[in-house]
Amino acid sequence: MDEQKTFTCSNFSGQTASCLFTATDEEPRVIEIAVDHVMAEHGFMDTPELRQQITDSLTGG
Ligand SMILES: [Zn+2]
Repeated sequence: MDEQKTFTCSNFSGQTASCLFTATDEEPRVIEIAVDHVMAEHGFMDTPELRQQITDSLTGG
């Protein structure tokens, strides 16, 4: 069973500190959910750097 990771938007970036969005899933899936969220809600671009920052901010597992 793959480990579950949690993305917490308020942990991700100072720009999203007040955002209450969280998602928990297997790591590749939670990264996709997080990318979709920060693009739609916070205006981020989908870049390798963004995905690395999201990966670094994941907790749990
Ligand atoms: Zn957010």
